[in-house]
Amino acid sequence: MDSPNSTAADTRLTTRASILLPLPLAGTYDYLVPDGMILQAGDYVVVPLGTRERIGVVWGPGGDALPAARLKAIRDKCDAPPMPADLRAFIDWVAGYTIQPPGAVLRMAMRVPAALTPPTPVTAYRASHNLPARMTAARQRVLDVVQATEAPLTAAEIARKAQVSNAVIRGLADSGALSRVTRPRHAPVPQPALDTETVTLSPDQQSAAASLRASVAEAAFSVTLLEGVTGSGKTEVYFDAIAETLRRGQQALILLPEIALTVQFLSRFEARFGCQPAAWHSELSPPRRQHIWRAVAEGEVRVLVGARSALFLPFAELGLIVVDEEHDPAFKQEEGVIYQARDMAVVRASLGEFPIVLASATPSLETRVNVESGRYRTISLSRRHGGAQLPTIEAVDMRAAALPADRWLSPRLVTAMRDSLARGEQVLLFLNRRGYAPVLLCHACGWVPKCQRCDAHYTLHRTRQVLLCHHCGGERPLPPSCAECASGDLLPLGAGTERIEADITALFPEHTVLRVDRDSTRRRGALDAHLSAVRDGRADILVGTQMLAKGHHFPAVTLVGILDADQGLFAADFRASERLAQTIYQVAGRCGRGTQPGRVLIQTHQPQHPVLHALLQGGYGVFAQQLLKEREAAGWPPFTHLALLRAEAPGAQEALWFLGETLSLAAELGHAGVTLLGPVPAPMPKRAGRFRAQLLLQADRRAPLHALLRSWLPAVAQLPAARKVRWSLDVDPIDTY
Ligand SMILES: [Zn+2]
Ligand SMILES: [Zn+2]
Ligand SMILES: [Zn+2]
Repeated sequence: MDSPNSTAADTRLTTRASILLPLPLAGTYDYLVPDGMILQAGDYVVVPLGTRERIGVVWGPGGDALPAARLKAIRDKCDAPPMPADLRAFIDWVAGYTIQPPGAVLRMAMRVPAALTPPTPVTAYRASHNLPARMTAARQRVLDVVQATEAPLTAAEIARKAQVSNAVIRGLADSGALSRVTRPRHAPVPQPALDTETVTLSPDQQSAAASLRASVAEAAFSVTLLEGVTGSGKTEVYFDAIAETLRRGQQALILLPEIALTVQFLSRFEARFGCQPAAWHSELSPPRRQHIWRAVAEGEVRVLVGARSALFLPFAELGLIVVDEEHDPAFKQEEGVIYQARDMAVVRASLGEFPIVLASATPSLETRVNVESGRYRTISLSRRHGGAQLPTIEAVDMRAAALPADRWLSPRLVTAMRDSLARGEQVLLFLNRRGYAPVLLCHACGWVPKCQRCDAHYTLHRTRQVLLCHHCGGERPLPPSCAECASGDLLPLGAGTERIEADITALFPEHTVLRVDRDSTRRRGALDAHLSAVRDGRADILVGTQMLAKGHHFPAVTLVGILDADQGLFAADFRASERLAQTIYQVAGRCGRGTQPGRVLIQTHQPQHPVLHALLQGGYGVFAQQLLKEREAAGWPPFTHLALLRAEAPGAQEALWFLGETLSLAAELGHAGVTLLGPVPAPMPKRAGRFRAQLLLQADRRAPLHALLRSWLPAVAQLPAARKVRWSLDVDPIDTY
């Protein structure tokens, strides 16, 4: 069957084709095209490689350097729509930018090889006009289920709905009471409706939506920052741009941080478009993954909501990308091919010549600079939707509170909590540290249990009665006594969410406390269950980590307490202040979205710290301006460009030695315009039993940096030492450790 987007076959592909394989190899391989096989660029083909068969992609016509006798022939062509040209161009671009072999990038676009085979039809059953000779309760349930459904159902579907065994269904079919038919394996993907008028936009939203629709109508590349305070209804505004894209017959992609891809978000989509969007995330079952992949390639999926890996799906006719929460560090992939999905999404839009929208209440400094330089357009929503007021933000000076060492809530916060709870409102407490206490200390001799594999203390998890290393995942049972002096007086120091939960429960015994962090949401669906408990009023006080900060809507929360702002003020990374400010604003934005105004209390020992001062006095915009000045003065991004070469090895020195050799290589090659800093041990020198070091490359302009990387990295890979250490290059690192 021909795919809808196939074009005339490339005549140059009649004898030889160059094939890219989804493997971390250097480049393409040439294969012979067998007689009678008609190929076009983008076709998925089966080729021999060594003793195995592999599926690759036709990347272009083959060369004629090698004699035909040296080449192997393509075995087969897959029955799937060819990979679109803009995705192939994107893969090449990402490979060039991240200095990775194209095959390593292609692998991210071919994670679902089973989808390259068309799904086979399945046997299904529908009611016939005959009744079975003998009727039983189970048989009656089956007939009821089948008669109530229009489309024929598979045995598994009937068995589940009617609570019967397959034998009952088979018996009915054999007796002629059910007739067997064949049916496509998957039910059709529900199609978004464009004519629902369920949402009324405010005048602000209407004018923002009109400009976004105009960008879509240009059908050309453009980047628009949709900046809106929390609760301003950005989502409904970009839904309008999506509707316009659908009207023009194109597909749309919404990228979200995985954690924000909740039932709540899908329901908002459903309220606007009458059906749930197709979703793409790490918890999809393999059959679902195959179905969605193929439906995206065939153009059946019109709108897809996905985590960052959705960027590599083979959309047949993509016409719009929206990156929501564009500032979120979760868009950075730190394993394998290291890339920033927000930035790569902009590239994909540029190659596909369509618009992209970046949405955030707290845009990244990179995006802000692009707006100021005129490269990006901007639309801002400065008022909350439905007349809700922005919360007031106050600092609570913890020095003045003079709390005992085992108390974490200032009297001012406790009083505010009592007031809110007395009015029947909800309270959210934010602490970005899970577990019970970050340190366990022997009160008699000062012994502190440390992870043997990392330069880190164990975190005490009291519910599970274990010590857990948050850096390598290592755990050990909670020791009953000190390993040094055998004293039983072990003291938890500091607090994580688990301890706050325990304290709050003791302090407010008549109220329900709910903790939301990675420990309490490990089970599939647990986060959604927690979120709906909050919305249904089944919890009064929420204690959680940044999982709580991601775009969720809690109308009854009127008070937010940020328990320890100091954590972010003293972090080593140059992005720490930006992160802290974004987190404070995002958490603060959870409150006062209903009819009651919100209040945010930030506990700190440093109320005069410039970061907090700028935030409290001027808001995020003023803060961002100040931070940009600091970055410019210090020569940090977005005013300079960075790449980080990381290395780690089991021995204490190998990583440093290796990086030292790479430094000499760079000196031999010449690196005008690029400053190399290091090698130095990583800020956490030992992690998971390996010693880590890094070399930072910094350049005022992108071009000399990438010129150096392109000649240097292949030479680095050839170093004998490169095989003895684990190393990776991170272009545009967001963590410099
Ligand atoms: Zn103190
Ligand atoms: Zn001791
Ligand atoms: Zn560890």
